[in-house]
Amino acid sequence: MDCIFCKIVDGEVPTELIAENEHAIAFLDLYPQAPVHILVVPKIHSENILQLDNSSSLNGLFELIRKVAATKTDGQFKLQFNSGKREGQSVFHTHAHILSEQSN
Ligand code: AMP
Ligand code: ZN
Repeated sequence: MDCIFCKIVDGEVPTELIAENEHAIAFLDLYPQAPVHILVVPKIHSENILQLDNSSSLNGLFELIRKVAATKTDGQFKLQFNSGKREGQSVFHTHAHILSEQSN
Protein backbone atom coordinates (compact mmCIF):
# COMPACT_ATOMS: atom_id res chain seq x y z
CA MET A 1 0.00 0.00 0.00
CA ASP A 2 1.42 3.34 -1.05
CA CYS A 3 0.08 5.76 1.57
CA ILE A 4 1.88 9.06 2.12
CA PHE A 5 0.50 9.53 5.65
CA CYS A 6 1.54 5.99 6.69
CA LYS A 7 5.02 6.92 5.46
CA ILE A 8 4.96 10.12 7.54
CA VAL A 9 3.81 8.11 10.60
CA ASP A 10 6.65 5.63 10.01
CA GLY A 11 9.21 8.43 9.58
CA GLU A 12 9.96 7.52 5.96
CA VAL A 13 8.80 10.93 4.69
CA PRO A 14 9.93 14.07 6.54
CA THR A 15 7.41 16.52 7.92
CA GLU A 16 7.11 19.52 10.25
CA LEU A 17 5.98 17.68 13.37
CA ILE A 18 3.79 19.72 15.71
CA ALA A 19 2.76 17.19 18.37
CA GLU A 20 2.29 13.49 18.90
CA ASN A 21 0.69 11.01 21.27
CA GLU A 22 0.42 7.22 21.34
CA HIS A 23 -2.33 7.13 18.71
CA ALA A 24 -1.90 10.19 16.47
CA ILE A 25 0.50 12.75 15.07
CA ALA A 26 0.03 16.39 14.08
CA PHE A 27 2.08 18.11 11.39
CA LEU A 28 1.97 21.17 9.15
CA ASP A 29 0.04 20.90 5.91
CA LEU A 30 2.46 21.20 3.00
CA TYR A 31 0.12 23.58 1.11
CA PRO A 32 -1.48 25.73 3.84
CA GLN A 33 -4.88 27.20 3.11
CA ALA A 34 -4.98 29.39 6.23
CA PRO A 35 -2.39 31.06 8.49
CA VAL A 36 -2.67 27.98 10.73
CA HIS A 37 -3.18 24.73 8.84
CA ILE A 38 -2.32 21.57 10.76
CA LEU A 39 -3.22 17.97 9.94
CA VAL A 40 -3.95 15.49 12.71
CA VAL A 41 -3.60 11.87 11.63
CA PRO A 42 -4.28 8.58 13.44
CA LYS A 43 -1.26 6.28 13.39
CA ILE A 44 -3.23 3.25 12.19
CA HIS A 45 -4.34 3.30 8.56
CA SER A 46 -8.00 3.77 7.70
CA GLU A 47 -9.43 5.37 4.59
CA ASN A 48 -11.62 7.96 6.27
CA ILE A 49 -13.37 8.72 9.55
CA LEU A 50 -16.22 6.27 8.76
CA GLN A 51 -13.69 3.44 8.54
CA LEU A 52 -11.93 4.38 11.79
CA ASP A 53 -13.79 2.18 14.30
CA ASN A 54 -11.02 1.67 16.89
CA SER A 55 -12.12 3.53 20.02
CA SER A 56 -8.58 3.94 21.43
CA SER A 57 -7.44 5.45 18.15
CA LEU A 58 -10.49 7.73 17.96
CA ASN A 59 -9.95 8.86 21.52
CA GLY A 60 -6.25 9.53 20.94
CA LEU A 61 -7.01 11.36 17.71
CA PHE A 62 -9.51 13.69 19.36
CA GLU A 63 -7.28 14.27 22.39
CA LEU A 64 -4.53 15.44 20.05
CA ILE A 65 -6.94 17.55 17.97
CA ARG A 66 -8.09 19.34 21.16
CA LYS A 67 -4.53 19.85 22.40
CA VAL A 68 -3.25 21.22 19.09
CA ALA A 69 -6.27 23.48 18.58
CA ALA A 70 -5.88 24.83 22.12
CA THR A 71 -2.13 25.45 21.87
CA LYS A 72 -1.60 26.44 18.21
CA THR A 73 -4.67 28.61 17.55
CA ASP A 74 -6.22 31.48 19.50
CA GLY A 75 -9.18 29.19 20.30
CA GLN A 76 -11.12 29.96 17.10
CA PHE A 77 -10.67 27.42 14.31
CA LYS A 78 -12.32 25.14 11.77
CA LEU A 79 -12.10 21.34 12.09
CA GLN A 80 -12.64 19.48 8.81
CA PHE A 81 -12.58 15.82 7.76
CA ASN A 82 -12.86 15.63 3.98
CA SER A 83 -14.33 12.18 3.33
CA GLY A 84 -14.56 10.79 -0.19
CA LYS A 85 -13.20 12.05 -3.49
CA ARG A 86 -16.28 14.10 -4.40
CA GLU A 87 -16.08 15.95 -1.07
CA GLY A 88 -12.45 16.95 -1.57
CA GLN A 89 -10.47 14.07 -0.04
CA SER A 90 -7.16 13.61 -1.85
CA VAL A 91 -5.19 11.56 0.70
CA PHE A 92 -7.05 8.39 1.63
CA HIS A 93 -5.75 8.04 5.18
CA THR A 94 -8.06 9.58 7.80
CA HIS A 95 -7.00 13.09 8.77
CA ALA A 96 -8.44 16.18 10.40
CA HIS A 97 -7.64 19.67 9.13
CA ILE A 98 -7.32 22.33 11.84
CA LEU A 99 -7.62 25.71 10.12
CA SER A 100 -7.39 29.09 11.80
CA GLU A 101 -6.80 32.73 10.89
CA GLN A 102 -4.83 33.32 14.10
CA SER A 103 -2.04 31.39 15.76
CA ASN A 104 -1.60 31.42 19.51
P1 AMP B 1 -7.47 16.22 1.77
O1 AMP B 1 -7.55 16.97 0.48
O2 AMP B 1 -8.56 16.52 2.75
O3 AMP B 1 -7.32 14.72 1.52
O4 AMP B 1 -6.17 16.73 2.49
C1 AMP B 1 -4.90 16.26 2.20
C2 AMP B 1 -3.96 17.33 2.64
O5 AMP B 1 -2.66 16.75 2.75
C3 AMP B 1 -3.83 18.50 1.65
O6 AMP B 1 -4.20 19.70 2.31
C4 AMP B 1 -2.35 18.49 1.25
O7 AMP B 1 -1.84 19.78 1.14
C5 AMP B 1 -1.71 17.71 2.39
N1 AMP B 1 -0.50 16.99 2.09
C6 AMP B 1 -0.28 16.12 1.07
N2 AMP B 1 0.95 15.60 1.14
C7 AMP B 1 1.52 16.12 2.27
C8 AMP B 1 2.80 15.97 2.91
N3 AMP B 1 3.75 15.17 2.40
N4 AMP B 1 3.03 16.68 4.03
C9 AMP B 1 2.09 17.49 4.54
N5 AMP B 1 0.87 17.68 4.01
C10 AMP B 1 0.60 17.01 2.88
ZN1 ZN C 1 -2.12 5.23 5.57
